[in-house]
Amino acid sequence: MENLAGRTAIVTGASSGIGEAVARTLAEAGMRVALAARRRERLEDLAAVLRRHGAEVLVQPTDVRREADVRALFAAVRERFGGVDVLVNNAGLGLAAPISSGETERWRTMLEVNVLGLCIASREALQDMERRGVAGHVVNVSSMAGHRVPGIDSAVYSGTKFAVRAITEGMRQELRAKQSPVRVSCVSPGYVETEFAEVFAGTKQAAAKTSARMKVLEAKDVAEVVRWIVTQPAHVEVHDVLVRPTEQRN
Ligand code: NDP
Repeated sequence: MENLAGRTAIVTGASSGIGEAVARTLAEAGMRVALAARRRERLEDLAAVLRRHGAEVLVQPTDVRREADVRALFAAVRERFGGVDVLVNNAGLGLAAPISSGETERWRTMLEVNVLGLCIASREALQDMERRGVAGHVVNVSSMAGHRVPGIDSAVYSGTKFAVRAITEGMRQELRAKQSPVRVSCVSPGYVETEFAEVFAGTKQAAAKTSARMKVLEAKDVAEVVRWIVTQPAHVEVHDVLVRPTEQRN
């Protein structure tokens, strides 16, 4: 998919951070974009900006923990744009929740959003792409925490991101077994300046602490990696891109 113009992308978690930046970047590249997340107002604000720059945008409030929402998202995209060419499975969160004392509900939320939601959206995308015979692309957002456990409180979050990598490889094998032209890729960022740290720790200071220590990645740095992944020629399937702030030690 070297030329993105006129193609359609679905970006989950587009109301903030990396997802918002990916939506902006893909819209700039000429894609029609469907914005999915729970906070409708944020999506409407972003859509207004993108439309002012000439992009075709669909806003679809979606909680990826709810299968009916995810199905409704794909149905809305089919109706409005005909189908999906690029799915960016970005919606995700970390919550501090140690194994020895964490709350089950926090573990469940991470597993449902980061893993199950990603699987449901991927299945809907692959079926849509197969039905239309398009050489589409699924990009999963994992993390450096999917390559090593970054520290205490992170066991379950990290486990979900290891799972994203395993699921990416499993999807790749399924697609190759079917001789499908659809590609699947993964991006694994280190620290990125978004609302992530605030959600993880439950305080605004958490994010400030990391960015005071070093120049962390900006969401648009990761969005550029996604753009690079989906503009490679058809015979190039990028598997995973690990990208850290230069000053990050671990
Ligand atoms: P943000 O908190 O800024 O964004 C998270 C996004 O996920 C929001 O748009 C949020 O939207 C969405 N989201 C959360 N829960 C749900 C849900 N149930 N249904 C639909 N959307 C949901 O964080 P980031 O931009 O940093 O996070 C994006 C991805 O990047 C995540 O998968 C994260 O794990 C990963 N990542 C982040 C890193 C970082 O340092 N920031 C490092 C490595 C990976 P809403 O609340 O409106 O539903």
